[in-house]
Amino acid sequence: MQFNTKLLHGKTSRGYASREMLPPISQVSAFRYESMEELEKVFAHKSMGYAYTRIGNPTIAAFEQRISELEGGVGAVCCSSGMSAIASALLAVCGSGDEIITCSGLYGGTIELLHDLEKLGIHTVYTAEMNGDSIRPFINERTKVVFGELIANPSLKVMDVAGTAAAAHEAGIPLFVDATTATPYLARSLSMGADAVIHSTSKYLNGGGNSIGGIIVDGGKFKWDADKHTALSDYKKYGPMAFSVRLRNDIWENIGGCMAPMNAFLNYIGTDTLGLRMERICDNADKLARALYEIEGIKVNYLTLPDHPYNKIAKEELRGLGGGILSFRAGSKERAFKIIDSLKYAMIASNIGDLRTLVIHPASTLYNKTAVEEMNAAGVYEDTVRVSVGIEDAEDLVEDFVQAVKSVSR
Ligand SMILES: *Cc1c(COP(=O)(O)O)cnc(C)c1O
Repeated sequence: MQFNTKLLHGKTSRGYASREMLPPISQVSAFRYESMEELEKVFAHKSMGYAYTRIGNPTIAAFEQRISELEGGVGAVCCSSGMSAIASALLAVCGSGDEIITCSGLYGGTIELLHDLEKLGIHTVYTAEMNGDSIRPFINERTKVVFGELIANPSLKVMDVAGTAAAAHEAGIPLFVDATTATPYLARSLSMGADAVIHSTSKYLNGGGNSIGGIIVDGGKFKWDADKHTALSDYKKYGPMAFSVRLRNDIWENIGGCMAPMNAFLNYIGTDTLGLRMERICDNADKLARALYEIEGIKVNYLTLPDHPYNKIAKEELRGLGGGILSFRAGSKERAFKIIDSLKYAMIASNIGDLRTLVIHPASTLYNKTAVEEMNAAGVYEDTVRVSVGIEDAEDLVEDFVQAVKSVSR
């Protein structure tokens, strides 16, 4: 089955209790049992069943199973947000004294989280790029996980998933990939070698900008070594499922960052159109990037532009598509603000992955607390405008952006 067929007709698309075509919304906190014996078995994991929505809920499970199937994983855990997913995944494998290897230019919230983890004794090492050669020198006995963004936002650095995974695996270390901006449509991270893939579902998976959420999908292939990964030592008997079980029955459950059932439903119906939307969004972004590229004095950052430093790897890893995010440099903060303010259609909003085109000046918003060097490493400068391209008609989008940019150049 190809992507859209699998999405709509995969094995997780049927089997609901009353033959519903969509997962029913179990908007409850808890589940009622006929006898105490039954509930005891559920708590002991001896019989299948739901007890309490923080720990499990059928609507949330339907969305978890759908994304797991789409990514080719062995299981997934939904979280209250993308940040909650990243925090849970990292805390499942790291403790005080451990190290994480990642790449500079991460999502701002993730950089802040890694600063917080530093205070708990979990140290992060930053490399300039994500490939086998760039991470190898930083691996040591304290390294517990390599974490990267498949397409960094908005720097558009693309990670070499296969190369990074090979170098990490040689050293007995798993690779976790935040594929929020790539989506399962552009790349199958697990089949390229990642051991877990994380999404902020708030973005492209939901697609309509109507709920915050996150998900972690476990590839189930990594060979956890209980001596090295001491955080998982109690889960040794679960073999390749050790990470999933530690996450679900321990860190994730205890932190309490579950997804709301209603949000799981909204994410489920949003995902129905993921393939269609990504096709349209990538086509629109490509057309817009090429139109802006023609304008003198405007520097455009988009993956399908032939002179983009990650153009070649994007061709190999991302179906030759560039994703929905592009940025350009306007020349100054004032010009950036003027361009943004003179757009007719793009909404000024701090989000990506919506059906509607969204635009923002990242330096004065998303990076207003970040040190300048860290911000520049993330591909954000004083004059950067970030665009999250939507599904509007390309002609209208191009005309709007070109008029806005030209009105400022005059
Ligand atoms: C938005 C985003 C996150 C955080 O997700 P939330 O749902 O906002 O918590 C993490 N990583 C990337 C790449 C993102 O774009």
